[in-house]
Amino acid sequence: MTACIYDVAIVGAGPAGATCAWYLARAGVRVALLEKHAFPRDKICGDAVCSRAQLHLSRMGVLQQIFDNGEAHAAAIGGMVSPGGVVAIGNSVEHIASSPVIAVRRVHLDQRIARAAAEAGAALIERFEAVDATLDGEAGLWTIDARRGASCRARVLVAADGALSRLARRLGIVGGAPEAVCSRAYIDASSSDFPHDGVAFYPRDLLPGYCALFREAGGQLNFCLYLIPGGQLTVHDLRRTHDRVMREDPFVSRAIGARAAIGAMRGAPLRLGGIPRSYGERLLILGDAAGQIDPLTGEGIQYGMDAAEIAAATLVECLAEDDFRAARLSRYHRRWRRAFGNDFAWSARIARLCSARPGLLDAGALALRRDGAPLLAKWAEVMTGARPKLDFLKPGLALPVLAALGRLALRPAALQQSTG
Ligand SMILES: Cc1cc2nc3c(=O)[nH]c(=O)nc-3n(C[C@H](O)[C@H](O)[C@H](O)COP(=O)(O)OP(=O)(O)OC[C@H]3O[C@@H](n4cnc5c(N)ncnc54)[C@H](O)[C@@H]3O)c2cc1C
Repeated sequence: MTACIYDVAIVGAGPAGATCAWYLARAGVRVALLEKHAFPRDKICGDAVCSRAQLHLSRMGVLQQIFDNGEAHAAAIGGMVSPGGVVAIGNSVEHIASSPVIAVRRVHLDQRIARAAAEAGAALIERFEAVDATLDGEAGLWTIDARRGASCRARVLVAADGALSRLARRLGIVGGAPEAVCSRAYIDASSSDFPHDGVAFYPRDLLPGYCALFREAGGQLNFCLYLIPGGQLTVHDLRRTHDRVMREDPFVSRAIGARAAIGAMRGAPLRLGGIPRSYGERLLILGDAAGQIDPLTGEGIQYGMDAAEIAAATLVECLAEDDFRAARLSRYHRRWRRAFGNDFAWSARIARLCSARPGLLDAGALALRRDGAPLLAKWAEVMTGARPKLDFLKPGLALPVLAALGRLALRPAALQQSTG
């Protein structure tokens, strides 16, 4: 391992790191993909894979593999339950060419992406836990040291080591701990009568967070509860809130059912909204490590994969120019901010607004009930990142919600009549 000098070493073979390795290897770059675990390994996640992630998976051949092997479930019937209890559920794919979300367990997904990167030519090195990285400025080389004495050398380092981002924090690029957390519990397939594919629940005290139930392949369910700062709860309330909402929230408990066999809760951090600087001298930060998670939904797989493609394209340019100065690599940061990062600011604003005015979500759910599948499809596309969040302000979505707000103001009893 020490003998070989790679053009790029990527620490972390999650969707972001492995996708970056795939794009680089396809471009003929010598790339090492360093992962502390051995695949298959689990990752705590809601397992919802949105449309742009599906695009990358399709290019890799992974989308086909997961469907061929029965590992994916394409969502069709779903929707939301608003803070006031308005249930809006329908078929969102009738008006969209393909499913905006598929559910795939990460134990399958991540292994398949990493193996695709290896097949494309990346050197996938498992059980390599990077503990430190030092840059020899004169030689223009990083040495990445692993826990058990192994090391790897490369001209550029990409830190894609997840939300805790210990490496980028150690290098001083990422500051502080992630601000949000999320729980996950699987529910056995035959133990619940949940009839839908995916529903987001917005209990008032969870805002700006929420919880969701997703159907996986084989009928298993995945329950996640996102605790996002800015509301009544803090990250320390995760376990208590997860158990309470599953047991006591009338909509969630009814959806799960009394005889559900619920697996153990596990939680993991979320770094939201994008870090202010994701590059340095011969260094890029990618995926959750760079906070590339939507502050409204907690989704990060597709953003990490989009950023991975952008990072790979930027690195190919830098390799051609033999220029890895921070100023040159800053193009990566500007590009991903333009592609999706600036939209995160709108997500954060919308999350704050809904938290302060939960009636907006009630009005949204009422509008979805009234206008049905065409509006649901638009709503789903915005929530899953296929359209920018700013589209919530465009007439197609804003007018039906404003009209519902108006109806609620004139006749508050309309809310009671639409609940349950
Ligand atoms: C409970 C929960 C639910 C979520 N639900 C969804 C969802 O439904 N849809 C969605 O799009 N997003 C969801 N997310 C976010 C999503 O999980 C992340 O955005 C996504 O995993 C980011 O990919 P990544 O490659 O950046 O990081 P990760 O997937 O975290 O991968 C990082 C990799 O780096 C490795 N690593 C870490 N440290 C080292 C080291 N020192 N040396 C070597 N390797 C190392 C890890 O083992 C891991 O394989 C959820 C997150 C949580 C916590």
